[in-house]
Amino acid sequence: MRIGLTGGIASGKSTVARLLVELGAYLVDADEVAREVVLPGEPALAAVASRFGQAVLREDGSLDRKKLGGIVFQDRAALQELEAILHPAIRQEMQKRMRAEDEQHPNGLVVADVPLLYETKQEKLYEGILVSYVPAYMQAERLMQREAMGHEEAERRVALQMDIEEKRKHADWVIDNSGSLEETRSQVLAFWKSQGLP
Ligand code: ADP
Repeated sequence: MRIGLTGGIASGKSTVARLLVELGAYLVDADEVAREVVLPGEPALAAVASRFGQAVLREDGSLDRKKLGGIVFQDRAALQELEAILHPAIRQEMQKRMRAEDEQHPNGLVVADVPLLYETKQEKLYEGILVSYVPAYMQAERLMQREAMGHEEAERRVALQMDIEEKRKHADWVIDNSGSLEETRSQVLAFWKSQGLP
């Protein structure tokens, strides 16, 4: 079975993914794939540099993510242009990896951690969607802590995404990650068992 794991920024996707992997799930991580498609030599990196300028590249030709982030997180249209370059490349590689995991582990659970699953309308690629949920104010709080970022910046990054309440409504399963890690762990285990997994 292939499921999509999503939520909002800092809503606990990586945490839930790690707990699922501990139980035996096979993880395909869209953030990891997203980093790999912009490695030097990849066509997506050339497209990004041609749109946003050579200034987003470091001297060694690698992507300066901070510089690019500084541009696109100030400008919604620029962010959309960046996404139009990256998302097809990421999606294709994700599909390839999921197929490979599925073939190797036909009775296993293949989990794709896809932060922008709903925003990029990928629901149909999965047999079900699991949302890791915390309320929006808590996303901003945990983001501030994790990135040592100011309150305003954290709130703006949360607001750039689809409202997490909306994602929760469309989910097939929800893990409420607003409590302790142990509470999250027991919900993940309950989900695992509900799917008849060993
Ligand atoms: P995402 O992958 O959705 O961005 P993370 O799993 O990285 O979210 O969680 C965001 C931040 O909140 C991380 O710093 C993580 O350590 C912390 N965190 C996650 N779950 C909990 C929890 N249940 N209680 C307290 N902190 C948590």
